[in-house]
Amino acid sequence: MYSQKIQNLSESATIAIATLATELKAQGRDVLSFSAGEPDFDTPQVIKDEAIRALNSGYTKYTPVAGIPELLETIAGKLERENGLVYSPKEILVSNGAKQSLFNAFQALIEQGDEVIIPSPYWVTYPELVVYSGGKPVFIPTNENTDFKITPKQLKEAITPKTKMLVLTTPSNPTGMVYSKDELTQIAEILKGSSIWVLSDEMYEKLIYDTQFTSCASISEDMMARTITVNGLSKSVAMTGWRMGYLATKDLKLLKLMNNLQSQCTSNINSITQRASIVALNGEADRDIEMMREAFQKRRDLACELIENINGLSVLKPQGAFYLFINMQDVPGYNGDSMRFCQRLLEVEGVALVPGKAFGMDGYVRFSFACSNEQIIEGCNRISRFIVSNII
Ligand code: PMP
Ligand code: GLU
Repeated sequence: MYSQKIQNLSESATIAIATLATELKAQGRDVLSFSAGEPDFDTPQVIKDEAIRALNSGYTKYTPVAGIPELLETIAGKLERENGLVYSPKEILVSNGAKQSLFNAFQALIEQGDEVIIPSPYWVTYPELVVYSGGKPVFIPTNENTDFKITPKQLKEAITPKTKMLVLTTPSNPTGMVYSKDELTQIAEILKGSSIWVLSDEMYEKLIYDTQFTSCASISEDMMARTITVNGLSKSVAMTGWRMGYLATKDLKLLKLMNNLQSQCTSNINSITQRASIVALNGEADRDIEMMREAFQKRRDLACELIENINGLSVLKPQGAFYLFINMQDVPGYNGDSMRFCQRLLEVEGVALVPGKAFGMDGYVRFSFACSNEQIIEGCNRISRFIVSNII
């Protein structure tokens, strides 16, 4: 009765857990949620002011599907100024969050049986959307020995004649690792001469600590031609609810095909969000963005220190994003099931984490530090108490 395709699709595990935590809180339970990939900051006032102006001036109509010209020009300006990427406004498509950008890209490029290489652990949405598009995810497992990054050797071995695309997330959700320019250059060398696309998810680009961010497409002309650069405002500017994401590609035919798809599904994104996004991207909100980044960096340092002090837990200090991907394989009495660990932790201590299994890696849990210092301290106390009580 229902399509097989839709029945094969799972709910986003990260959203499911965050929703459960919110429901438990609403029922009066004392729940601390570290599950949502969402900044706790409000959207900067300059951006909200522009949205209010847009609304009051009646900016409430359909716009071009890809976005209004001023927004596309602002994005092109941002990509050139901050990322060294020269895209023209007509090479950019604005969508309802980066999620829709990813959906458009997979739908437009993936054919039945195409292989898509996804480094693991991965963000939950990629394999689901690849399978939905008829493709086959090919995972490259990583671990702490290579800072959760794929090696050139692993990439070479994963490529087959069916490989259509490589998905790269830098900084990574869930590990917070960032590919250096050198590492991206090595990846570019391997792809040279192939027809493999790169989908570069740069959502956490602004949340970067003690390191330099490099955009994949900036590595070489060859890389620029094969890369679809995906970004958005949810994380960098605390605008998750506004639903603004975008992608850029040098392939105008591909852009047109994705535009066609979007024109039949959702059309343009919210007109008011578009006006507000110009202010988010033209430099006017930069001080607020830097203030949030600095706060995240301090919280990262605090959370890492507290987690490292808990018996059995260890974590690689993330260089970006706002997640700790915590190794819990040395927890006494732990049987390797991250799902059960998270369920019991929620039941017993009211702490919500996301099981590593959702990101393709059992034995780990994801802890979002996009919350107050007080919450981080109290959450770590509870996790410690839970582990010491040995009731997993
Ligand atoms: N990419 C990554 C790596 C993410 O973590 C997320 C989660 N928000 C997204 C893309 C999608 O974000 P949005 O749809 O809110 O723009
Ligand atoms: N990307 C965020 C996360 O990983 C938000 C949830 C989602 O979009 O799936 O938690």
